[in-house]
Amino acid sequence: MIEIIVISGGMFCGKTEDLIGRLRRARAADKRMLVLKQKEDTRTGEEIVARAKDLTNNFKPVDEFPAFPIGSREELESLFKKFNPEVLAIDEGQFFKKWLFEFVTDLRENRREILILVAGLDMDAWGKPFEIMSLFMGIATYVDKKKAICFRCKKEEAIMTQKKTAGSGQRIEIGDAEIYEARCLKCWTPPPEENNENHYPYELKKLELKAPFDKLRGLFILNKIFFS
Ligand SMILES: [Zn+2]
Repeated sequence: MIEIIVISGGMFCGKTEDLIGRLRRARAADKRMLVLKQKEDTRTGEEIVARAKDLTNNFKPVDEFPAFPIGSREELESLFKKFNPEVLAIDEGQFFKKWLFEFVTDLRENRREILILVAGLDMDAWGKPFEIMSLFMGIATYVDKKKAICFRCKKEEAIMTQKKTAGSGQRIEIGDAEIYEARCLKCWTPPPEENNENHYPYELKKLELKAPFDKLRGLFILNKIFFS
């Protein structure tokens, strides 16, 4: 069975922490794992990092896990061949293009036995869904939408990501607490200008789920026809 678990929500809601917890369990069970991050995510090197506020209210790394920075389906295919993973994990899924989604749907078509974990932002700073994350949530067997506590009112649950500065106006702007805050819907305001350059249209290939030939069931049916 292919199992697809999506861990999503806004910034600072503990997505990577949750992902790393699941990876530690998989490692304890001696599973073959392949952990991916996007090449463009330059905040860290060859690892994914969970951050949380310390007692002085500053964000600091609390956990990390080794990961391969990749930028294309070809790179993923060669890593996949090399590691033959039972668990494929993706952090910051919103950074990826649709080839990653298509790779996962191909695994699904081939009825691959695998656990796929996708962590990533559900919406951009304008409150618009990240298309690739919406698609992963659509095919997921389980979706965990996590919430932070609003950085401003400190009361409501934060489902939005607030850009603290106008910034580049780009949808993808790599940064942490120096640029972003978690906010509730009441305290959130969208950035002034939107640059749609990074929105990409989704024209996906037709999904063809082929019925597998079940030899045992076939023999059982033939047995029923001829010997009963
Ligand atoms: Zn609030």
